[in-house]
Amino acid sequence: MKYYSTNKQEPLVSLKKAVIKGLAGDRGLYMPENVDLLKDFVIGEMKNMTLQEIANVVSLALFGDDINPDTLNEIVNDTLSFDIPVVPVHDRIYSLELFHGPTLAFKDVGARFMARLLGHFIDNEGVKDVNVLVATSGDTGSAVANGFLGVEGIRVYILYPKGKVSAIQECQFTTLGQNIVALEVDGTFDDCQALVKSAFMDEEINAHLKLTSANSINIARFLPQSFYYFYAYAQLDKAGCADQLVISVPSGNFGNLTAGLFAYWMGLPVKRFIAANNRNDVFYNYLQTGLYTPQPSVTTLANAMDVGDPSNFARITDLFSIYPDPYKAIKKVISGYRFTDEEIAAVMRSVYERYGYILDPHGACGYQALIADSLTDGETGLFLETAHPAKFKPIVDDILHADIEIPPKLQHFMNGKKQTVELNKDFPAFKTYLLGQ
Ligand SMILES: *Cc1c(COP(=O)(O)O)cnc(C)c1O
Repeated sequence: MKYYSTNKQEPLVSLKKAVIKGLAGDRGLYMPENVDLLKDFVIGEMKNMTLQEIANVVSLALFGDDINPDTLNEIVNDTLSFDIPVVPVHDRIYSLELFHGPTLAFKDVGARFMARLLGHFIDNEGVKDVNVLVATSGDTGSAVANGFLGVEGIRVYILYPKGKVSAIQECQFTTLGQNIVALEVDGTFDDCQALVKSAFMDEEINAHLKLTSANSINIARFLPQSFYYFYAYAQLDKAGCADQLVISVPSGNFGNLTAGLFAYWMGLPVKRFIAANNRNDVFYNYLQTGLYTPQPSVTTLANAMDVGDPSNFARITDLFSIYPDPYKAIKKVISGYRFTDEEIAAVMRSVYERYGYILDPHGACGYQALIADSLTDGETGLFLETAHPAKFKPIVDDILHADIEIPPKLQHFMNGKKQTVELNKDFPAFKTYLLGQ
């Protein structure tokens, strides 16, 4: 399979090149040229299959031309060594718990897949010494650091704003050592992101180091997220309630929702999607007006969704560009809702009190969007619970007036020793640092 850039100013590239470059030379995002439709009976059979088996079928359709099936199988099985269960919350509302991986957030799936795929290119296809740069406000850093931990030939630099990520998040990427370097930047998340962007554009640095990104712009990180949409469907199908499925996705950079759209494009019978946002409502406003107007991000309780210019928007419009009126086509498949911090807190409290289910602030947006959308008879609602609530323990405890349990996996990180390199937010210092590597 070849990959094209959403800006269409660059020739088609191979999977290997798309993964190693991250962003296309014309600053566009890579897209698979043609996606196989899975036959109805194949999807119907999935209710009798495990997560790994389903992911193997889907991954063959996506990556089968580029990697031999046995290797792909290994990469997939290794990535998905934990379950992604659908859990009933009440009535016809279900939670897809994406947080049973090593860092307790959905980004584990994409990060682990990407790390193993890059590892394969390094071991077998002559790729050498790759450096992954990521800016994080919390969850990306931990998933990427743990996904890439110990993979030979790859060094990972995580830039994060000093004092602005939670203690639990910080220890998940600062205590690992080995090939993971945590750079503690005296600035904001936007400063970290600006440093990463400048590094990608700096000729001297690029001549010295092979750089790639592990944000959801990278095809290897976002596309494997389509696996669990099929698995979610399969579980609901088995329970006899997958006929009219409405899926609500708490969204920031929209990688997760875009992966869902790919599943839909491959034939997954989803009736419609909902994009759930916090006060960062650029996509919501687009659905209302047809105008896409990026905004500076604002800080909310659901901080992994604090994005003012979602990078995967270009992929969504590209997917629908085959229609005469793409905006109308998008509105037919995706609706949107947005919630304030007060609304998020109220939802978390009421779901806990009424049903005993603990939502994290991101999942709360997903859940409430299903309620706001008022499902019709026969529809089943599924929201993606993107992180374990204990990752946001101080906030969640405060809202629920509870003392929620920290899973052993998280506790384990909290016992490690923090190691970071401190940097100021100015590019020259960062550049000097990278050139010294
Ligand atoms: C990253 C993240 C999101 C947003 O996902 P996108 O793919 O960027 O839309 C939502 N919830 C949590 C917990 C996250 O870490």
